[in-house]
Amino acid sequence: MDFDDLKGAIPHRSPVQPRELTADAAFQFDCHPGVSCFNACCRRSDIQLLPYDVIRLKQRFGMTAGEFVAAWTTPFEMDQHGLPGLKLATRPGSGECVFLTEKGCDVYDDRPTACRYYALGSMDIRKAGESRLEQIFFVVTEDHCKGHAQPKTQTVREYRKSQALDIYDYHNRGWRELVVKKRSSGPTVGKPSERSMQLFDMCSYDMDSFRAFVQSEGFQRLFDLPEDELNGLLEDEVRLLHFGYRFLRQTLFGEMTIPLRPGAREARIAARQAVWAQRREQEIHRYREEQERSQYEE
Ligand code: SF4
Ligand code: SF4
Repeated sequence: MDFDDLKGAIPHRSPVQPRELTADAAFQFDCHPGVSCFNACCRRSDIQLLPYDVIRLKQRFGMTAGEFVAAWTTPFEMDQHGLPGLKLATRPGSGECVFLTEKGCDVYDDRPTACRYYALGSMDIRKAGESRLEQIFFVVTEDHCKGHAQPKTQTVREYRKSQALDIYDYHNRGWRELVVKKRSSGPTVGKPSERSMQLFDMCSYDMDSFRAFVQSEGFQRLFDLPEDELNGLLEDEVRLLHFGYRFLRQTLFGEMTIPLRPGAREARIAARQAVWAQRREQEIHRYREEQERSQYEE
């Protein structure tokens, strides 16, 4: 797979085709309050939120993840199986970002990854025969953005550094790998269960619920985490986020990334079988009752 194969999948709204760049390639672009189009991009925003974006923004507002998601985001499905995604909400009746003010971005220090990248784009690809993902970059040239006519030239590396994207990409990378892996495993593993979608949603966007889950008796009975590691996770949402990626790799793809307590798996299977047996009994009982009732009615 190469860049040309991916062009159709790149999210952009312009007829102008994006141009692939290496990390050391230079491109001409600048954005500052003096450009004639200042904030034009935020008036037609379509910003997907990544897990670390949600943590930064919820912490900025002192909200729980649930409160933040309900107040400022719109859910969407990332693939045909309904893999849950989040976008920043827009103001009713317009495409204007909810955080846009007359002075510019109201959450500038914690703006999401997509806002930091623009007018660069990035995609993750896994080349045939390679296990690691490769991140590719491209310039997106849209008519409303006059930043491309500004005289400043920089390399992709310099631009990413100026936007603190190394930090954002580092904290989101595990999640992006999961999404690519999920896409590439596609129909061979069939439609994921509703439960696995719920776990993906929680581990991606809701660290408050995930923290409570990690503290729950059921989780502690199954997983064998050293006490200091567990305490570290409970105190730090970003560490918890990275742990969530491990947990999803184990849950969705069966990779043993978190040690289980001895005998815990067997005990869980036995408990599940007991529940299934009980359900079967109830079904048989219900069927017999219906049979008796219909005989009586005849
Ligand atoms: S978060 Fe800020 S930079 Fe991003 S679209 Fe909204 S206003 Fe613009
Ligand atoms: S130069 Fe481009 S990125 Fe900057 S405000 Fe204008 S439209 Fe947005």
